[in-house]
Amino acid sequence: MTDLIHRAAQALRSARKTIALTGAGISAESGIPTFRDPGGLWDRYDPEEYATIEAFRRTPGKVWRMMKDFTELKTARPNPGHYGLAQLEQMGFLRCIITQNVDNLHQDAGSRDVIEFHGNMRQVICQQCDKTLPLEDISLETLPPYCSCGGVFKPAGVFFGEPIPMHAMLRSQEEAQSCEVILVIGTSAVVYPAADIPRVAKEAGAQVIEINPERTDLTSGVSDFLIQEKAGVAIPQIVAAIRAMAS
Ligand code: NAD
Repeated sequence: MTDLIHRAAQALRSARKTIALTGAGISAESGIPTFRDPGGLWDRYDPEEYATIEAFRRTPGKVWRMMKDFTELKTARPNPGHYGLAQLEQMGFLRCIITQNVDNLHQDAGSRDVIEFHGNMRQVICQQCDKTLPLEDISLETLPPYCSCGGVFKPAGVFFGEPIPMHAMLRSQEEAQSCEVILVIGTSAVVYPAADIPRVAKEAGAQVIEINPERTDLTSGVSDFLIQEKAGVAIPQIVAAIRAMAS
């Protein structure tokens, strides 16, 4: 393991541009359940009933009641994995993070350049006038919440059946095509089009470094190597290794 941490640190030091793609796994150590791991969200809630845009349009109050129960989303704090990535950005070794997460924890940890591929559940957007507000600024006493224009507020995360925000899609493609190293952290890489990002980077010649306690669809074939460890353990070790190399 130490060898792979060292190899990752070397790769980041010598690359002109490194980016990261993160998924639910990086927030697992902050207490937010992943979707697909045992005990994850999809074990508790049927995605057909709660996570599609059709379900939201059909029964917005029901989807909002699930959201209200999902207290981890409001109380979670960043973990050493998030802080480690923010440090790498500050040290000049990480250009940006493309995240599939909707929990705002990268920004809470201090990362500045975060591309939110699936939106942000800590914000709401009016389905009629597009007004966007922080979740804490609206009352959840009666559900669904309504905008002053009369439209229904929807959590600003991307639901299944909704398009990826155009700016996030375009910028992610651009970053993937022009990076030399991509860190792929805590994602099972089965949700498309996000799962294409490491493949696009690989085809453009980038080195793909995965951090995940489990093997994924990328591990054989796309990844150059897998650091089989929790993000909150491996990322701080990479930061420490880079610091040690510099001193
Ligand atoms: P996923 O649930 O499909 O996969 C999670 C991956 O993280 C797995 O491969 C698992 O082995 C790995 N993992 C678990 N613990 C880890 C740890 N401590 N360190 C590193 N890796 C760990 O998640 P996904 O690939 O992100 O796809 C699910 C979709 O669900 C995403 O689109 C995302 O938007 C959404 N989601 C977001 C959150 C969040 O915002 N925190 C939470 C759940 C799901």
